[in-house]
Amino acid sequence: MTADIITGTSISKVYATATGPLVALDDVSFDIREGEFISLVGPSGCGKSTLLSILGGLEEKSLGALEIAGTPAGKPRADVGMMFQTSVLFPWRTIRQNVRLPGQVLGLDRKQQAERTEELLDMVGLNGFGDRFPGELSGGMRQRVGLARLLAHDPRILMMDEPFGALDEFTRETMNLELLRIWEATKKTVIFVTHNIGEAVFLSDRVFVMTPRPGRLEGIVTVDLPRPRTTEVMRDPRYSELVFEIRRMLGVDH
Ligand code: ADP
Repeated sequence: MTADIITGTSISKVYATATGPLVALDDVSFDIREGEFISLVGPSGCGKSTLLSILGGLEEKSLGALEIAGTPAGKPRADVGMMFQTSVLFPWRTIRQNVRLPGQVLGLDRKQQAERTEELLDMVGLNGFGDRFPGELSGGMRQRVGLARLLAHDPRILMMDEPFGALDEFTRETMNLELLRIWEATKKTVIFVTHNIGEAVFLSDRVFVMTPRPGRLEGIVTVDLPRPRTTEVMRDPRYSELVFEIRRMLGVDH
């Protein structure tokens, strides 16, 4: 059994709002093992993004304890990479220059970063697009750039907030398959936020099911489907069982 890389204990988050305190997370505890693919799933407003922001050190927790790789967490850190629904790319920099940015900011070896950038462009299917500018790319291609940039400084943990949520169904499925391929090759720890239950089951080792009652971790579902996965796995009766189990937990079956 691999060691835990992230441990959250009784994490709560209360936002101060104009209408008073708002409980976004209430007493959330979990362990994540190195190399696991975890999804956070739940309806809008249940606290998924808040939890991911706390894990990524972008937001402070109100109560509880959080450890990442054996040290107390709370600030952005180089071993954690974050990706969002829309990748903010610098329009005046080429695709290659955008991917190189995190390495430059962190002052990593230029030659190594240059080589790594080419490998990554290849890995995400953008070979030949390095000299283009973001304005010339489709939404799907921009998220490919975002994925390459996420991997540029080789973080151990990837935190992804609905990274393909704004893409059409077909592109999203392709990106999910590529993400799985990359994850299988690199064995990074992934925490993936989505409100799509099927996507969560398809991708994950375990699904953290969150409910707005408010901001509770309702339960954790282990996905015992074989790997490596292709879309064929969606025909497996076990896939539907798991989707329905999560739907039941979320109370969305009528
Ligand atoms: P999800 O990602 O599941 O849609 P969020 O984490 O974005 O949920 O939000 C959880 C709750 O916290 C929501 O009620 C939201 O309105 C509230 N919230 C999120 N961010 C803030 C903020 N910066 N200030 C006040 N309330 C917030």
